[in-house]
Amino acid sequence: CSPGSRIKSGLVEDCSCDYETVDYLNEEVLYPILQELVTTPFFRYFKVKLWCDCPFWPDDGMCRLRDCSVCECPENEFPEPFKMPFNRLLADDPICQEGKPEATVDRSLDSKVFEGWVEIDNPWTADDETDNGILSTEMTYVNLQLNPERYTGYVGPSARRIWEAIYTENCPKYPSGEICQEKRILYKLISGLHSSISVHIASDYLLNEATNMWGQNLELLYERVLKHPDRVENLYFTFQFVLRAVTKAADYLEQAEYSTGNLEEDLKTQSLVRQLVFNPKLQAACPVPFDEAKLWQGESGPELKQQIQKQFRNISALMDCVGCEKCRLWGKLQVLGLGTALKILFSVDGQTSKDLPLQLQRNEVIALGNLLHRLSESVKFVHEMAPSSENIMKGQ
Ligand code: FAD
Repeated sequence: CSPGSRIKSGLVEDCSCDYETVDYLNEEVLYPILQELVTTPFFRYFKVKLWCDCPFWPDDGMCRLRDCSVCECPENEFPEPFKMPFNRLLADDPICQEGKPEATVDRSLDSKVFEGWVEIDNPWTADDETDNGILSTEMTYVNLQLNPERYTGYVGPSARRIWEAIYTENCPKYPSGEICQEKRILYKLISGLHSSISVHIASDYLLNEATNMWGQNLELLYERVLKHPDRVENLYFTFQFVLRAVTKAADYLEQAEYSTGNLEEDLKTQSLVRQLVFNPKLQAACPVPFDEAKLWQGESGPELKQQIQKQFRNISALMDCVGCEKCRLWGKLQVLGLGTALKILFSVDGQTSKDLPLQLQRNEVIALGNLLHRLSESVKFVHEMAPSSENIMKGQ
């Protein structure tokens, strides 16, 4: 009996593979590859506009949080005149809980590593984060390895409002018994991502602020995720959905240019990508984790797709309202990763763009790889920790 079987077993709804197969493949094959892949120079630098330009609530002081984000940077990166106000705001501002060394965002990357890839829009995302779309001075290059997704202290009305706006306005929970799979997808993807974020908070939590002791918070894992079987199921769904996108784009990803100027590392990146997308164990046990060909077939298919695309773009725009810099970084990366998966599965070879070959931006590939790694890590943590977490809760 595998540890995760106490949570759920059997097929994951809307997917082709069951929990046991996913756990086996993830732990034996996918997680070790992804764990190495995200440390390569190609995958560890993400280009992002981190300033908080929230288009939805301009009047509520949200953009004070822009200062909150800047206060996280090492002082020597900023010109002298900018330093004082940020420090003052850091001291006054209770929302700014990220002024800690571990929250530092490294902005020192050489922008040349982003040269040489196509600049092409993604119809599923709001940001046109190409050099043409956004002033390149607003873009930041972040070393993801220095900024792990973990507990940040971002709680309260600001965080709650984002999730509320996402769920109520852009992807309402479908009524139980809803048979239209298309309508379920967006909710499940977001809920799965939300579960994964909660899992990362639980797996790397600030247990004691005074001693700066970090560790696992299994109670939080249970309360936010394990107690809700649908949230666990949505995590497994999102993982299989993104995995399908990655394997569907296998040829493209295998041939893509992973050059960062470090030949040895770049060859390793290419080899890891190949191991991931053409993996014989994956092909044997779960060749098509999600079957996208069934979707958008009915008469209302194209209309439904447009509606869901618009809702996803709104969710993507909401990431600019996330009031904590590191959460915004990972929120943007993961939503871009989901948008890339949606683009691969639904915009290419689909009715609207039959003749277009798949083309991805460099940043989309980075987001997709890191998102899959995030989800893989969450699935692994849930599978491994479910029994201990339940025992802790029973003992209380
Ligand atoms: P929340 O997680 O805020 O959930 C709000 C409500 O949504 C819940 O009451 C419940 O009704 C519903 N809900 C919860 N989980 C699910 C699910 N899986 N599926 C469906 N519905 C659900 N905090 C950090 O510490 N580190 C981070 O890196 C981080 N990243 C974030 C990224 C984004 C994009 C956002 C919006 C927030 C992020 N946060 C992060 C904040 C974090 O997600 C929580 O909002 C915060 O910890 C407060 O949690 P909560 O218990 O109030 O519930």
